[in-house]
Amino acid sequence: MKLVEKMTMQPFTCLYCGKGNIPNNDRTIGPFVDLERDVNFNETVYVCEKCALRVGSCVGMITADEQRELNDQIKKLEKELHNTEAKLDKRTRQRDLARKRLSVVGTSIKVIRNEKEKVGA
Ligand SMILES: [Zn+2]
Repeated sequence: MKLVEKMTMQPFTCLYCGKGNIPNNDRTIGPFVDLERDVNFNETVYVCEKCALRVGSCVGMITADEQRELNDQIKKLEKELHNTEAKLDKRTRQRDLARKRLSVVGTSIKVIRNEKEKVGA
């Protein structure tokens, strides 16, 4: 099997829907899947993209619409993940700063206790 832009062998039609080498809206013609099989004495078997996608969906492949929907969901989830990571980073920085301050306070308390012991208070 191979992908071709134009059917170059007889019968020049999709095996399933009968689409020919008709230009698409963007003026391209294909793609078509050339099944590389001869039937009826040297007739080539082609399947247009739309029919190939339908065949794929019959065996569990996602459709182009489903792919677009999944891509949209992925983008939305990636944005949510980015925002959540940003919030987490902010909280981590706040926690680290609080730990440093607590450490300074702890050290100060130790110094004060040592000084009191020296003085005998
Ligand atoms: Zn077709």
